[in-house]
Amino acid sequence: METAEIQRRFLKFFESNGHTVVPSAPLPAFEDPNLLFVPAGMVPFVPYFLGQATPDWNRATSVQKCIRTPDIDEVGKTSRHGTFFQMNGNFSFGDYFKEQAIRFAWDLTTGSVESGGLGLDGDKIWATVYLDDDEAIDIWHKQIGLPLDRIVRRGQADNMWSMGIPGPCGPCSELYYDRGPDYGPEGGPEVDEDRYLEFWNLVFMQNLRGGGPAKEGYEVTGDLPKKNIDTGMGMERMAALLQGVDNMYETDQVRPIIDKASELTGKRYGVSTSHTASESHPDDIRFRVIGDHVRSSLMLIGDGVVPSNEGRGYVLRRLMRRAIRAVRLLGYDKPAMPELLPVAMERMSAAYPELRTDFERISSYAYGEEEAFLKTLKHGTTILDTAVSETKTEGGKTLSGSKAFELHDTYGFPIDLTLEMAEEQGLSVDQEGFRKLMTEQRQRAKADAAARKTGHADLSAYWQLLQEQGPTDWKAYETLETESRVIGLLKDGQSIPAAKAGDIIEVVLDRTPFYAESGGQHADAGKLVGPSLFAEVLDVQRPVKKLVVHKVRVLEGELVIDDKVEASVDHEWRLGARQAHSGTHVVHAALREVLGPTALQSGSFNRPGYLRLDFSWRSKLSDETRSEIEEVSNRAVRDDLPVAVKYMTLPEAKDFGAVALFGETYDETVRVVEIGGPWSRELCGGTHVSHSAQIGPLVLTAESSVGSGQRRVEAATGMEAYKYLARERDLVSQIAEEIGAQRGDVLERVRAILQRTKDAERELATLQAKAVSGRAAEFAAAAKQVGAVKVAAVQAPEGTKGGDVRNLAMQIRGHLPEDQPGVAAVVATAGGKASIVVAANKAAQAQHVSAQALVKAALSGKGGGNDEVAQGGGVPADQAAQLLAAVTGAISA
Ligand code: ATP
Ligand code: MG
Repeated sequence: METAEIQRRFLKFFESNGHTVVPSAPLPAFEDPNLLFVPAGMVPFVPYFLGQATPDWNRATSVQKCIRTPDIDEVGKTSRHGTFFQMNGNFSFGDYFKEQAIRFAWDLTTGSVESGGLGLDGDKIWATVYLDDDEAIDIWHKQIGLPLDRIVRRGQADNMWSMGIPGPCGPCSELYYDRGPDYGPEGGPEVDEDRYLEFWNLVFMQNLRGGGPAKEGYEVTGDLPKKNIDTGMGMERMAALLQGVDNMYETDQVRPIIDKASELTGKRYGVSTSHTASESHPDDIRFRVIGDHVRSSLMLIGDGVVPSNEGRGYVLRRLMRRAIRAVRLLGYDKPAMPELLPVAMERMSAAYPELRTDFERISSYAYGEEEAFLKTLKHGTTILDTAVSETKTEGGKTLSGSKAFELHDTYGFPIDLTLEMAEEQGLSVDQEGFRKLMTEQRQRAKADAAARKTGHADLSAYWQLLQEQGPTDWKAYETLETESRVIGLLKDGQSIPAAKAGDIIEVVLDRTPFYAESGGQHADAGKLVGPSLFAEVLDVQRPVKKLVVHKVRVLEGELVIDDKVEASVDHEWRLGARQAHSGTHVVHAALREVLGPTALQSGSFNRPGYLRLDFSWRSKLSDETRSEIEEVSNRAVRDDLPVAVKYMTLPEAKDFGAVALFGETYDETVRVVEIGGPWSRELCGGTHVSHSAQIGPLVLTAESSVGSGQRRVEAATGMEAYKYLARERDLVSQIAEEIGAQRGDVLERVRAILQRTKDAERELATLQAKAVSGRAAEFAAAAKQVGAVKVAAVQAPEGTKGGDVRNLAMQIRGHLPEDQPGVAAVVATAGGKASIVVAANKAAQAQHVSAQALVKAALSGKGGGNDEVAQGGGVPADQAAQLLAAVTGAISA
């Protein structure tokens, strides 16, 4: 049975049993600051389970796209772990419970294919239950008829579900399918989870848990008022069972990618004859990694993730790089993504048609990333080879941890690649040193994340406020002032009753005109004023949906719960914010007009006077392109285009041509901001001007790279743009005045000045050289007799350059009598180091006085040259005199 058919049957079964079909949420977990990606089908329903929102239905079913990054290392080594997979679920919100949930799962799984079921053999199914959940055992045994020896009791870690924090929890019951003795030893899931394949997990959400360890060892503190059901059936695992293949990578949605990779590399998949994944040939594991990761990358980019060096983008990058490397290890050197990605798209677009319509964008990211990584590999390989040969020359056997780290950090070279390539050349790698540096880096990253605003903080106090007081009455679109009541005061995430002058605290109001930071727009600035209160608003965030929180510094008076205050946004600030945000849309539209529709924004930030916009583009923008974008932007300002705000559903917005920027939430109704009709249409919750001319001038101030395939433009807007231009003008005026030129002639004059300086420097160098060599005869005359040899030991005048030192030594030697052994030794100092040049004449060489031997004597073995002239250096400058003494000493010896 094809995966698409399993999906159809699953949804149909639950729909005909009164469930509402809910579409999958996108992979990035936008609503939960603690998650990068949705790892399970229940995640989009969390607010309903927590009682923070009430759904329109009490039964739902979905096929949810999931990513589990912790499973990445299992891919290909077990038969059942994908980074991307689809979880089919049925959910009950205070409606049916344990008995019905078990019944549904059993009926669908074992129901005959003809009657719409999945047709699995019930005699091969095992069930696990939580230790003391006798109720579940009874249902399985007495109502379903499962024999007791196929019902297994398991502990908290395996069979008690919670979200890892205080909140709902409950026992679960998992369904396993026995795949037979070819797949491993007898004895049930306790013995072998690859032979006994878990395919469905039923969670009976009935209790509350307390704090403590996330998985095991916490206390169950009470019962939920309303019991819920949350289940998850792994669609890939079910497909593997129904298609009679050994593992999830050989199912109809993934296997064609493996076959394509096999065709490209000329290597055969399935070298191992065993059914057990853990006994596979390394090449087979690589094939599965390719199949899994290529599909996951497709799905991630499809949902708006772009490769980058942090967060979600980094997960994507890592998956792509692992896939690309596996292809290389199988012996294929050319770009593989253009071959593999379309195969994945063909397989997945039946269920996700947007993958096909959006494939140009998706593939351009994927191919660009591969290109960049191949360059990295090439470049990194050179660095690695150099490091390896250096290590070997020094007689080492271990590549240093810092080198491995540098390769990783600077060149994006994965450590396993470094390990493998070093090993090929007979070296091991100091992994401990590497890990230490990685940990340090991670700690720095963590500190950064902690410093961010609501990062990964405990949000429970906000949830509680929202539950008790309801959503903030948010007036940012309508007014700049409201009469408000203080309904919450918090410090460090804890409620407090009051605050006094000097305190910095968080304030929740029943109603607010403040714009909370979102969609790239900075929070509003302003104040809260009461009869005796004066407080400055420092920041405004929405830590949980629909609750606006003001970070405030109390300057005068006191702030107490229930106080009435006047909340007012700084008018100037808001005007600047509107200019900057509309400016961002204008620059985005201009970028796309000039560069084409693939120059899609991937992130932005704006505050009064400033905006920046990150977009996908491979190469640096030329000066002409920058000017063109700036000109198109300013033309749009001059044309005074109307700015309109419209509300519609997401599909309507897409039809309308609005640029859907991922990272936005998928609410029922979306807000579209358009400038000049179709010229610029974006989903956006920001505050905007009403006509483009109000934006004022737009000046591009910078263009730079922010990671591979991503560029950033920055611009000044409004008064700041004017000030920026005024500063540049003043600068030119000052330069003109300084060099005594007309403004129009500045550039030419500066060039002329630079040329004159260069000429003067050259002339000076020649004069200095002359001055030094002019003294050669004088130095020669002062030579001392050391044994049979005339020795001119000279400290060159300060500032003598390298080449001149050598010339001086040669000239002094020329002035020494030819018929007598003579040696000129010249030391010079520069940059804190001393160097020496020694020149010996013919007569000296005939007496076996060698310039090279003398230099080596002075520099304890270092230096180079021949019997006639030799040189060396690198010792501290204050040893210059000792070098000369050493040469003299060596001659006399
Ligand atoms: P396992 O112990 O096999 O890793 P799990 O206990 O982590 O599974 P659950 O969290 O209970 O799995 O998820 C519910 C269902 O989702 C599982 O029964 C399984 O069918 C499926 N599933 C979980 N993780 C994966 C994965 N990485 N790839 C494919 N399917 C998965
Ligand atoms: Mg797991």
